[in-house]
Amino acid sequence: MRYRELGRTGLKVSELGFGTIPILSGHVPVLPKFFSPDNETAIAIMKKAFDYGCNFYDTAIPEEYGDAEKKLGEFAKTINRDEIIISDKARFYSGGDIYREVLRSALNLGTRPDIYFVHQVDDSNADEVFGKNGALDALYDLKREGRIGHTGIASHYYSVLYRAALDPRVDVLQGSGNILERGMLERIKKEAAFRGKGFILNKVFAAGLLIGPFSVPELIGGILGYPFSCALLGIGTFEQAEAAFAREYEPVDFTFEEVLNRIRKIFEPIGCDRCEKCICPYGHEIHTTFRQYNYFHLGKEFWAVNKLKMDLKRTVDHCRVCSEQVCMNECSRHIFIPEEIERVYSLLKAFGDT
Ligand code: SF4
Ligand code: SF4
Repeated sequence: MRYRELGRTGLKVSELGFGTIPILSGHVPVLPKFFSPDNETAIAIMKKAFDYGCNFYDTAIPEEYGDAEKKLGEFAKTINRDEIIISDKARFYSGGDIYREVLRSALNLGTRPDIYFVHQVDDSNADEVFGKNGALDALYDLKREGRIGHTGIASHYYSVLYRAALDPRVDVLQGSGNILERGMLERIKKEAAFRGKGFILNKVFAAGLLIGPFSVPELIGGILGYPFSCALLGIGTFEQAEAAFAREYEPVDFTFEEVLNRIRKIFEPIGCDRCEKCICPYGHEIHTTFRQYNYFHLGKEFWAVNKLKMDLKRTVDHCRVCSEQVCMNECSRHIFIPEEIERVYSLLKAFGDT
């Protein structure tokens, strides 16, 4: 296992980390596959990863990750606590709420979280999170009080991560990316503001959907050139722990076109790399729509259709009468966006769900 600096925190984290969603028991809606191991088995799986050199474990509050937080706390008691880094998170945006959640997480874990993230920050809640008495102010206070080690902002949006990168209260960022959805990683690589912040990368396998067209060594090797600190892998079985952590991965240099060509053996993808440069004045999230189209064909049919149903009709109606089409001005992949939106809409219609 190789190790990387976690920004300016002084921590060294394993290049690959343990995402705890698959070890939760019970049912939490919208999450990817999990395996419901009992406490003892979950602890043994985490220990197996630890024995291979993994020192970074990421979890969230029970409403988001079920009993994974408690299981991680139990595991931490079985080893030297200082040898692992615990990252936790909660989807609360006001200072009072996140303060309460950090105290509850510390009780569930039986120890202090090393990093605590405000989870799923987006444009609708960012002003509250970053504003006076918002969640970030509270995390900063909690850090000064010694109740957490470091502060974090987790988001799927480049605009939010960039704002966090410029904010001196933030120590660590968490965002998503993989060899297909690499646009945000490319931007982070070029932007000096991100240097000095720790960066935790998730969705390396796109919730498992890219495993099949690509092997695990290709998916991991393909992201090693990006400036993340630790890439999280969801682990739910001994076999997965072994497959993920027992070997060292070599960098794989896939061009974006090579990635698309591999996927073309299954279907014709929309060639969007999710750089998030397309800004629509009507507020349509073009990159999310294109992601659902690709995810649909990679195996997440019902989930993708349900997401698309929420806004696609309104988007299509706007695109059909939109004369400015400013969304395409900055598209790094030169995608003719309204045409591709029509393609996604045809899929939804074919599915009988518009
Ligand atoms: S074509 Fe117009 S309405 Fe459609 S996404 Fe682009 S800017 Fe928005
Ligand atoms: S449509 Fe173009 S600009 Fe928008 S996220 Fe995809 S590649 Fe980037």
